[in-house]
Amino acid sequence: MKKNEQIVSYQGKKILIGVMIWLLVPTLIFNLGCKTTKEAVKPISTDDGIITFNFLQLNDVYEIAPLENGTVGGMARVATLRKRLTNENPNTLTVLAGDFLSPSLIGTIKQNGKRIKGAQMVEVMNATGIDLVTFGNHEFDIKEQELQDRINESKFTWLGTSVRRINTKTGKKSKFYQETDSTLNYVPDTWIWEISDEDGTSIKIGFFGATLDMNQVKYVEYLDVTNTCLEAVQSLSLQTDVVIGLTHLNVAEDLELAAKLPQVPLLMGGHDHHHIRESVGNTLVTKADANAKTAYVHTLTYNKNTRKTTVSSKLIDINDQLHSDEEVKSIVDKWKRIMDDNITKIVDQPYAEIYYTKVSLDARESVNRKEQTNIGRMINEAMMKVAKRDVDLSFFNSGSIRIDDQLKGPITPVDVFRILPFGGPLAEIDIKGDLLKKVLNESKNRVGQGAYLQRKKVFYSDQKETWMVNGAPLDPEKEYHAITTEFLLKGIDLKTLHLNDPGITKIYRPDPDDPTDLRNNVILTFIDYLIKLPSERD
Ligand SMILES: [Zn+2]
Repeated sequence: MKKNEQIVSYQGKKILIGVMIWLLVPTLIFNLGCKTTKEAVKPISTDDGIITFNFLQLNDVYEIAPLENGTVGGMARVATLRKRLTNENPNTLTVLAGDFLSPSLIGTIKQNGKRIKGAQMVEVMNATGIDLVTFGNHEFDIKEQELQDRINESKFTWLGTSVRRINTKTGKKSKFYQETDSTLNYVPDTWIWEISDEDGTSIKIGFFGATLDMNQVKYVEYLDVTNTCLEAVQSLSLQTDVVIGLTHLNVAEDLELAAKLPQVPLLMGGHDHHHIRESVGNTLVTKADANAKTAYVHTLTYNKNTRKTTVSSKLIDINDQLHSDEEVKSIVDKWKRIMDDNITKIVDQPYAEIYYTKVSLDARESVNRKEQTNIGRMINEAMMKVAKRDVDLSFFNSGSIRIDDQLKGPITPVDVFRILPFGGPLAEIDIKGDLLKKVLNESKNRVGQGAYLQRKKVFYSDQKETWMVNGAPLDPEKEYHAITTEFLLKGIDLKTLHLNDPGITKIYRPDPDDPTDLRNNVILTFIDYLIKLPSERD
């Protein structure tokens, strides 16, 4: 019985399993059937209301080729990074937050009788795939028609939120525009980027720009940044899901603006040449290092259900870890050949190391136009060394330093050309004390401008309330021997300093046919000085 019981029991289990299988089979068939029907009606993925997108942020880029012996920067490397990001997520937008048409050494070189003036930059930016830019102060360094040509050549979108163009011939004010054969396309105050992802989530992202009003030129009107930005954001908020700023302001102005725009998660800024990441409330302000030494990659996720945006930002080094995009590199190389052809007319080995500095040489405009700097002191020392006799003082206009960057490491003749792209001869002068006083006072009042002087052996003593020249208070009756630039004597920068002024009793000019007279070109003056300086390389 026991055996039978066992058999029964065994059979019972068998039956039970069999019943279970029969119960399961139709269920499986039903489920499979259902799934097949569902697939036919709707794709597997559905709109989850969440979308992720990237911004690749650059700002203040004047140099198209890598710097510091090829170790950092370079737009061809940026192009590779852009391609990589776009491959990972097609919703990638590449932006440049102002300052790219000037200053640069290439820009000052003439081609076909015209100065290049940023044409090299626009061609490279077009090839790199820049999508959106805002005006920086340096865009107005070039002439009205030159800027018009650059806007016409660009394939990217400009944001002109806080600037207007004044036609200097007619006086008519308008937005900036791009001219085509038949139409004028006005540069917008705001721009909307519409994107969607694979599961069908789609959103609109609105952009506004801002430009600080430091470069006062006749063809530009500056609007109030705060008011225009608030208006732009208000209007964009009604039409879009997310609003983003592309600004060219001082960091203090950016933070002030951020405080007024809590609904804006990100202000991608420029103008400050070193990387910055600060936040006010939920608004993040970022700036990358100038000349594409770094770039910011922002990955944003927007949730349509919660209307929340999250921002994750990474500062990426642009260096030899990124290979150079071939197409962009060939354009960069073309411009480099044009530059080298011009430089080798003046120096034999443009890329030889002539000096190595451990200390940053501060050639930023924001500093040089306001205070005495290490590079200003060095250039003045170089000028004093080439003078034919001892000078009481040396000075030049800070505006002749154009590189707007800090230099560290190896220095080459090309760097000197980049620091002082206009070059030009020096002149020694005998100047009466009373005129010198007027010149120094005018320069002191021109703080923040190119007419502010970098000087040596002369400073203002607050204690004595007088200028001290060569160790003694300035004597209006005395005649001083000074070295300066021929450019300054033209009276363009400082109105009080003009070669025809009777206060200048004698001008000693270099012999243009004497190649050993280094006063013929301040670039050669400074190169010679750096070669003779003990290198700081270990
Ligand atoms: Zn700037």
